[in-house]
Amino acid sequence: MTVAISKGKNSQKAKPGSIHIHTQVNPHLGRRIICPHCGNEWNFYQIAEEVKLTTRYVQNADGSFTPLSDDSRILGEVKLYCGECQADLSEFHNRFLEMLF
Ligand SMILES: [Zn+2]
Repeated sequence: MTVAISKGKNSQKAKPGSIHIHTQVNPHLGRRIICPHCGNEWNFYQIAEEVKLTTRYVQNADGSFTPLSDDSRILGEVKLYCGECQADLSEFHNRFLEMLF
């Protein structure tokens, strides 16, 4: 669903009905994160600052290396952003983590 909000010279608020937003309360849709700025509910991205990435290797008989496992530890802040308008949606980040499977 695409919500078009005009950002013309008149910053007048759009009249109700001119923007098509589903406001009905649905137990399944109620926990969906929707960007309050652009209405996007499909694309999001997360940025983790200061990630410490540890990769374990074993050295083979011929001197080559084979990676065994990756371990990433996030040291800094993790933020959630809207994939459409790049708004900071970190206020929804806890819910995002709850719903991450
Ligand atoms: Zn957005």
